Amino acid sequence: MKQKHEEVMELARRRGFIWPSFEIYGGVSGFYDFGPLGAIMKNKIIQKWREFYVVGEGFFEIDSPTITPEEVLRASGHVDHFVDAMVECQKCGEAFKVTDLAREQTGKYIEGAPKEEMEEFIKKNKMRCLECGGELGKVFDFNAMFRTAIGPGNKRVGYLRPETAQGIFIDFKRLQRHARGKLPFGVVQIGKGYRNEISPRQGIIRLREFTMAEAEVFFDPEDQHHPKFSEMAGEQLRLWLAKDQEKDDKKLTEVIVEQAVKRGLVCNELMAYYLGFTKRFLLELGIPGAAIRFREQTSGQRAHYSKETWDAEVLTERFGWVEIAGIAYRTDYDLSRHAKFSKEDLTIFSGGKKVLCHVVEPSYGIDRPFYCTLEHSYVPEGKRKYLRLKKWLAPITVGVFPLLNRDGMPEKALDVHKSLRSKGFMTEYDDAGSIGRRYARADEIGTPYCVTVDHQTLEDGTVTIRNRDTAAQVRVTLAELPRILHSVICEEAQFESVGKPVKE
Ligand SMILES: [Zn+2]
Repeated sequence: MKQKHEEVMELARRRGFIWPSFEIYGGVSGFYDFGPLGAIMKNKIIQKWREFYVVGEGFFEIDSPTITPEEVLRASGHVDHFVDAMVECQKCGEAFKVTDLAREQTGKYIEGAPKEEMEEFIKKNKMRCLECGGELGKVFDFNAMFRTAIGPGNKRVGYLRPETAQGIFIDFKRLQRHARGKLPFGVVQIGKGYRNEISPRQGIIRLREFTMAEAEVFFDPEDQHHPKFSEMAGEQLRLWLAKDQEKDDKKLTEVIVEQAVKRGLVCNELMAYYLGFTKRFLLELGIPGAAIRFREQTSGQRAHYSKETWDAEVLTERFGWVEIAGIAYRTDYDLSRHAKFSKEDLTIFSGGKKVLCHVVEPSYGIDRPFYCTLEHSYVPEGKRKYLRLKKWLAPITVGVFPLLNRDGMPEKALDVHKSLRSKGFMTEYDDAGSIGRRYARADEIGTPYCVTVDHQTLEDGTVTIRNRDTAAQVRVTLAELPRILHSVICEEAQFESVGKPVKE
């Protein structure tokens, strides 16, 4: 069903969530702007992620440059291994990423297959150019990093970072001192990452510049225990095991976190803990549990640094299962490579011995869950189409309207709007068109509550609050309005119980 995607994107452009970048110059694929409402919502997702990882897990946050000198990315393996297999049309010259083309034309994942096998696959499946139907040429490697020069001339090569993680590994010595040698400890970084995609044609799902949120959890390989594991042990997971994918079997394995480790499906407690943690984060955004699964990457699909990786995937109508986060066991790969290339000793002294830390990395994109949240919140109810966003996530929390544009109602409503803003509520004042149209406009962008000033307000100082999801209304006093709004937004109180029901 392509229609829902198109309706959501139309809404997103028209109401200021997201739109293609550089539009007046014809646009460049792989780049999107966040508009006034989208920027608020994206920041709320980032802030929620911080609540999970920085507040909840107690991880440190750093902020390092996005331009990275070549030697760092040579050590990390990205100069040699951050490549996409590419193929060109013999007729029109259009370039394609082989794995994307294979998925689009055959539905199969061929990530990590050797070039000869990919060429064989293209022949066997009679894959052709998407633009002109022409024949495809040889498969070759394309390094997906954006290259630049640091300073004038070409003496010092730099790249836009392909991941935020390297900034954390580089700072490891200072960070472990900050952690006072205690293991495990975690460090996060949130910021832009870059991947020079060959021919992105999936809109917001495949960007060349995107926002990442990554956590690196450093631990002693002889102690792979998570201190809060017992809190996560019972969380249910749906796993698509690598061995089932290799047999072309779509079967999912349902298992709780604790059993996933005991049965050896997930390699250690830390990995399994962060699968459960990622699921909880996605639920918090409003993604339904039935649309979440974890796919184990097969050995060919894994990045060069990883021993085991699970992709958290969310089901979408337009793009099928979309990877939102990867939870990777990076072992001591990065620290040992940086120790070797920089000649710094990156071992630490912990628990009476020298330790070269291992790393588990939960790594998220922010743009994809942003889109998935919009798609899953979109409710087309006959003529009424609206976003059933989680209350905390809606960019505008409260709409404030005068019932009519006369008799002092607009002035009073503006007072209410200003007073709520001064108390930290993200409100929007609207007096254009009929009250019904204003409710519809607020519903469309997911505003959970609308406050209306009417004749009775001027007599007794009460207003109505309308609930987006049920269209039910209650009447409350202006004096109590901020407290009541707070309690319903935080879901501490039932909407129906906070005031006198209004009969329509
Ligand atoms: Zn072609």
